[in-house]
Amino acid sequence: MNRVDKNYLERYSRQIVLKNIGLSGQKKISISKVFIIGAGGLGCPIADLLCRAGVGEIGIIDNDKISLSNINRQTLFNTTDINKFKVEVLKKKLKKINPLVKINIFKKKINEKNINQLISKYHIIVDASDNFNTKFLLNERSIKLRKKLIVGAISKFDGHIFVFNFNNKKNGCLKCFYQEKPSDEILNCDQEGILGTTASVIGSLQANEILKLIIGSKNILENSILILNIINLKMRIIKFKKIKKCICA
Ligand SMILES: [Zn+2]
Repeated sequence: MNRVDKNYLERYSRQIVLKNIGLSGQKKISISKVFIIGAGGLGCPIADLLCRAGVGEIGIIDNDKISLSNINRQTLFNTTDINKFKVEVLKKKLKKINPLVKINIFKKKINEKNINQLISKYHIIVDASDNFNTKFLLNERSIKLRKKLIVGAISKFDGHIFVFNFNNKKNGCLKCFYQEKPSDEILNCDQEGILGTTASVIGSLQANEILKLIIGSKNILENSILILNIINLKMRIIKFKKIKKCICA
């Protein structure tokens, strides 16, 4: 066994020992490619945990710079990072956390024109954005390109998570649940406020669902929304039906 293999086994030893993962699960994680939209309160814990877990390739898109008001929840940024581009700081930090992971960064906004090219090579698409236009665009293209999509949303003390596997035509989509695009006001952290713990809990749960998808876990959140309130600690899973005339039909 050469040094690289030894390092690989030791780095991931605490998760390889888990029965649900093992060496075969770790190999699945190591060859998976995940694309994260948004490097903020959700994107930071998602990128951090997936990088530590050894996801082979992580793409991250965000065109924002770090501001002082981001630091309460965006866990990979320091005060000395203010005014730097989020994705540039993330790449440096993630390479230090785990040099085995390939990190691709995109300093731009995702839109209707660039989305197909950006997401095409990734297996799993992760919405960590703060607006419904992006969430609905990711939903529509993930259906077309038959991707797996994990959507997260946070507002005040509430978090929502959706998991969609569009390889399975029986599954509904984001539009089946919302039908009409909700107002972005509820996702506006500047006005509504957000605590770092809410963002980290929801981002961590998104990362958890991503790893479960990769290792082929049976208990995937499908055709359901997970709603968590961190004040009363109530977690609900609400099922919803696929709509016949929806874009996912
Ligand atoms: Zn639908």
